[in-house]
Order: sequence, then structure tokens, then C-alpha cells
Amino acid sequence: MGIKTVKFGGSSLANAEQIAKAAAIIRSDPDRRYVVASAPGKRSAADVKVTDLLYQLYGRRDGDYAYTLASIRQRFTRIASDLDVEIDLDPHFATIEKHLLTIADPDYIASRGEYLNCVLLAAYLGWPLIDSADVIRFADSGEFLVDETDVLLGTALHKVERAVIPGFYGATAQGQIKTFPRGGSDVTGALVARAAMAEVYENWTDVSGILIADPRVVDDPLPIREISYTALRELTYLGASVLHENAIIPVRSRGIPINIRNTDCPEDPGTWIHTEASTDSHGPAIVGVAAKIGYTAITVRKAQWSGSLGVGPSLFRLFQDLGVVVDLAVTGVDSWTVVIRSEMITHLMEVFMDKIRTLRPDAVEVRDGLALVGVIASGTLPRTTVTVRLAQALDDARIDVFADTYVGDLRIFTIDTDRHDDAIRAIYAALVD
Ligand code: ADP
Ligand code: ASP
Ligand code: MG
Repeated sequence: MGIKTVKFGGSSLANAEQIAKAAAIIRSDPDRRYVVASAPGKRSAADVKVTDLLYQLYGRRDGDYAYTLASIRQRFTRIASDLDVEIDLDPHFATIEKHLLTIADPDYIASRGEYLNCVLLAAYLGWPLIDSADVIRFADSGEFLVDETDVLLGTALHKVERAVIPGFYGATAQGQIKTFPRGGSDVTGALVARAAMAEVYENWTDVSGILIADPRVVDDPLPIREISYTALRELTYLGASVLHENAIIPVRSRGIPINIRNTDCPEDPGTWIHTEASTDSHGPAIVGVAAKIGYTAITVRKAQWSGSLGVGPSLFRLFQDLGVVVDLAVTGVDSWTVVIRSEMITHLMEVFMDKIRTLRPDAVEVRDGLALVGVIASGTLPRTTVTVRLAQALDDARIDVFADTYVGDLRIFTIDTDRHDDAIRAIYAALVD
């Protein structure tokens, strides 16, 4: 019998009804021994996630915070009474309020959604709680410490048959709470699966797996049955937001597969993510399509640059010195184009321009408002056929492509931001439907 680590996202734990569904899934398989849980998410499209309420609470700490604190408290009181869990929440909220008024510590406040939800879930299941502050380790600088965490978590899990572990946060050796980026409970789930040497990391959410396209853009897209870690990282990096991009590395290094499942449809097989995905020769021509907005392209031109060894390295060194990450680079004959996240470069543009002048370019062109649309070919059709169909689909939709880059099965189109949803729909319709 292997160990299964299961993570439930905020939408799967938004109220008592959802928590009861999650608990039924957990209890239906004795191998589901370690449970990582998020804070309560949205109960409806118009609702607010508890984590967002907690950030609001922190923002109002010098003024009228009472209403926000009361509404957070109300969410947990309601869950506890609907689940029939007898827990006195008063001391927990007294601690939160005291902390709010005495220490400026947004990470601590934000982490309380996961912590309190896990206190309730552990009581409901009758399982012990392992506080992530004791087992997920960060340096004082905020840097996550992977090796220390693996040892601490492994030791703590070894001592208990079953446990509930809050997602999203950890702490320094002195006990100061630090959070992962938003959506970080996926990362905690992966760390627990890795430390437990689990046979699978089940990630339970509100969709039946990773879908070929974002369901908010394409109606009822088909699920991806199987995908490799590499292809999924590319897809999540480019905007398929179902699983946090940093949740892949910890399990991949130990060969633990990830299974994305739907809490509302537990019988659906969901998506399997592992080292090699087999190709379904009758399946769609693409594995997935996703988009990310907020990019700027910079083109530097200079006649006779081709063949000059120093140009590329100088340009990249310049970005490196500025701390700017280049997402995409395209080399022309006498030009270099780089695509960068706008938030990284906008405030550094003047410095960049000053420095680039030292290379004496003929022209420097900047284009903002771009999106990257990533498509992964599945291998069922020859790559050139896929390329032609994609180009045709974008042309039919009158979408202008600023740059297209192809490496292996991954194609990235740089287009105008306001057309990124249209591009996804056009690509889905032409290559999947
Ligand atoms: P959780 O609360 O379980 O962590 P998230 O909201 O983080 O869930 O992720 C699930 C959501 O991701 C889905 O409800 C869906 O709206 C969104 N999403 C975006 N792209 C995709 C995709 N390609 N496949 C599935 N879901 C996607
Ligand atoms: N609750 C946190 C967030 O909303 C972490 C998570 O759900 O994964 O980002
Ligand atoms: Mg999530």
C-alpha cells in the first residue's frame, strides 16, 4: 500500500458542504494519509476568498478593520457550526487581532486562512494537525529552504499515521511566518508528497483536470488526460493557472505523479502528470493552449551586426545587470528582439536606454501591450502541419502575430494583448473541435 498526499484547493473547501465532500473523498481511501488544505475560497463567482479578506484586514489595521475581521470570523463560525465541530474560535481571533494591532506582518495575517481551515478540518476528520510553521522552513530573507524543509517534514510525517497540514505558509527558524506566492498551497502539497515519498500527489480542485484551454475562455474544453511535467510547466508558465508552476519541481525530482481531480466529480479520472506522457494517436493535435498578458518587446537594430559575436552577450549582460529576466529572444539578421514582462522593465526603461546607447545601435523600438500565447503540439500530426493550421487559424481570426517562436513541440505567438482570448478560441476551434 502506498501513501497518497491529497491537496484540496480553496474552491473545494469554501463552505461546510464542500468540506464534507472533501472529507468523504479522504475517508474513501485509507492510503490518503496526508491532507494539505487551502483557506476557504469563493462560494460563488461574486464571493471573496478568505485570503483576500485577510489581506484587506491587514490593509485596514490602522483604521476601520472591525467589519472585515467580523466577516472572516463569520465564515469560520458558520463552517464550524454547519460541520457540527465544537471548537472555540474566540482565542484564535483574539490572537489574530492582537497580532494585527501590534506587529506589521502581512504574511502572518494572510496565513491564518489556511491555519484556521485546517484546525476545523482536522477536528472534523479527528486527525492531528501539523502546523506548517514547524515544518516548512524559510530563511530570514524570505527565501524558501528546500533541504531543511524536506528533513523537517519527513521526520514529522514519519511520526504520525495521518495528518492535516495547512498550505501556503511556513516560518523561519525563529517562528516568523512567511508565505509562498498566491496559489502556493499547491507547492505545500508537492513538498508534503515529496517528503512522504508518496506514490501520488492528488490535487483536488473545481475542474475535472487540466483542460486544453482555460474554461473561462473556451466553453467546456476537453480535459488533458496525460501530460509530461515539462509540457505542464510550459503551459502553466504561459498562463494555465490551475496548478502553481512551482508545484511541479519538488515531485518531479522523485518521480511522483500528480493527479488533478474534481471534488465535485470524484469519479472523473482527471489529469495525470508524469515524466513521459503517451501520445493518443486519435486525440487532439495539441496538448494545450494558454496565454499570459503584460509583455513588452524591445528590438535593437544595427546594420552589419550579423556575425558579430559580442552583440548577443552584451545585450543579455545588460539585462542581467538590470535584474531583468528575458522571457523570449528572437534574432534577426541585423536585429535582436527580446520579450520581457512589462512590470520588470517599465521603470528601468530610461536606464536601459542610456546603457544601450553605448552599443551604438541604429534604432531601438519598444512595443508594449503584448501577450504570449503558448501552444503545445501533441505529436499526433507532423509539426509542420500543426504550424500551418495554427497560422491559418490566427490569420482567419485576423490576429496579427508580432513574433512566433518554435522549439520542439512548443510554439509561442507574441500578439496584442486585447486579442489573446480570441487567439485561444481560434486555436482551440481549429485544432481541437
Ligand atoms: P484551487 O482553488 O483548487 O486552488 P484554482 O482556482 O487555483 O483552484 O485553479 C482552478 C481554476 O483554474 C479553474 O477553476 C479554472 O478557472 C482555472 N483554469 C485556468 N486555466 C485552466 C486550464 N487550462 N484547465 C483547467 N482550469 C484552468
Ligand atoms: N489561499 C492562498 C491563495 O488564495 C493559497 C492557495 O489557495 O493556494 O492564494
Ligand atoms: Mg490554486
